[in-house]
Amino acid sequence: MDGLGEWRKKEADDLAELVQKRLHRLQNPTNCADAKKLVCNVNKGCGYGCQVHHLTYCLMIAYGSQRTLILNSKGWRYSHEGWEKVFLPISDTCTSTMGGSSGHWTDEAGMKNLQIVDLPIIDSIKPRPAYLPLAIPDDLADRLMRLHGNPAVWWTGQLVRFLTRPQSELQRDIDQVREKLGFLSPIVGVHIRRTDKVGTEAALHTVQEYMYHVEDYYQKLELRWPVKVKRVYIATDEPRVLSEARKLYPGYTFLGDESVARTASLGQRYSDASLRGIILDIHFLSQSDYLVCTFSSQVCRLAYEMLNTIHPDASAWFRSLDDIYYFGGQHAHNQRALYKHEKSSVQEIDINVGDVVGIAGNHWDGFSKGLNRNTGQQGLYPSFKVEDIVDIVKMPTYDDDDG
Ligand code: GDP
Repeated sequence: MDGLGEWRKKEADDLAELVQKRLHRLQNPTNCADAKKLVCNVNKGCGYGCQVHHLTYCLMIAYGSQRTLILNSKGWRYSHEGWEKVFLPISDTCTSTMGGSSGHWTDEAGMKNLQIVDLPIIDSIKPRPAYLPLAIPDDLADRLMRLHGNPAVWWTGQLVRFLTRPQSELQRDIDQVREKLGFLSPIVGVHIRRTDKVGTEAALHTVQEYMYHVEDYYQKLELRWPVKVKRVYIATDEPRVLSEARKLYPGYTFLGDESVARTASLGQRYSDASLRGIILDIHFLSQSDYLVCTFSSQVCRLAYEMLNTIHPDASAWFRSLDDIYYFGGQHAHNQRALYKHEKSSVQEIDINVGDVVGIAGNHWDGFSKGLNRNTGQQGLYPSFKVEDIVDIVKMPTYDDDDG
């Protein structure tokens, strides 16, 4: 009513366009033969979400060090032909690593005269640059913090967006599936990660645990207007989950594909069919109005990042059953206390206004767990008594055409 919605939309579009332009310029230097380059190998030995995050980290380093990113993706475990089988090349003009001096990532002085730098995975990068996640560029910080509830997610989402621009064939496939599914708003995206994740990196959560939050979402929506069809898009690597959900919740319309879930099983996972399935699933999760999932899974974190490239601020449009949002290998995630807290049990910690607390997790019952860096106490504190500290880092400013 006050016009701010329009302002938000325009500001989000302007910022996104600015960042996409910068990435395009970085990736298409006027003289590729002399350009400084960073080489990134797609084949990190992990799943699709983890590999996209690996590339995202590579692009972040490329942006921060102002080097053109070169992808090495031939023989990719998800598609032998490589990244360009499904996504547009990340450069139209500069893809060669031939010639020039080359070496491994090291300190600034050591890399000054290296034209080509090989980048290790995020867990082994040394020294660790300040612009690793959850950092955001200082020259965009004011605008981003005014616009968005989680600027680091917005920034990560923009890099993911640049990397995963679909080839026309993939885009056609996506459009056809959308039509066939009847993918329409309102819709809640649910990601249920099972198989190899359960008992190793995450706990098992029942269909009911996810649906509790879906029901909550629709109950709230119904307070605003009548909802005719309560749609839920289910992405999963466990084919039985879809029929279970349909049986338990007849009042809901479940969209999803059991055959896609079958391609996600470990035996079939590293194949073109499985790649198509996971790209479609993440796409439709990100196109949903709300996400219910486990942030321990890179699949859902990726969908959440992409969701935040579609709307001006979708930072609160999710419910994770386990972790808070993070980027694997990130710098410490710190919060600042806004209110004093005196502990009322042995599990809790005291905090004073201004204390810095390193957050480890949210128990989703009003309490977070973390380390008070001022006192060394470790334990629970009320989540509402702190706010995130945004990690604003100096990065190249890039000479924007549009000022
Ligand atoms: P994480 O292990 O859950 O953190 O995520 P990764 O993406 O790194 O690895 C899991 C892999 O399992 C995915 O990349 C897919 O290949 C497969 N997978 C997991 N969940 C789904 C899903 O909901 N749909 C599909 N199609 N595949 C999935």
